[in-house]
Amino acid sequence: MQDDRENRIRERAHAIWEQEGRPEGRHADHWMQAEQEAGSAGQQPQENAGSAAAPSLSSGDDAAPGTPGTGEDVCPECQGSGQVAGSECRNCGGTGIVNKGIAGG
Ligand SMILES: [Zn+2]
Repeated sequence: MQDDRENRIRERAHAIWEQEGRPEGRHADHWMQAEQEAGSAGQQPQENAGSAAAPSLSSGDDAAPGTPGTGEDVCPECQGSGQVAGSECRNCGGTGIVNKGIAGG
């Protein structure tokens, strides 16, 4: 896979070398120049492409009310009793049930 790119770089470096009148001892410079050209031509800019297309569903909206297995849950503060230390549980308002979709906001 990498041979193809390397071959292109080699050919490009050779072309640059000939363009410059075949100077001696400039192989590394030509290779680097060819490598840069190959790199910028073969790769697409990835500054904005990657994360822009990511779905934005996963921030609390994915569990709609009424979805089986989600939504209401036993209150972790009172373990579903609705009371903490003899008084009404503030976390669930005394119901012993919390709605996962709403709680935490
Ligand atoms: Zn509670």
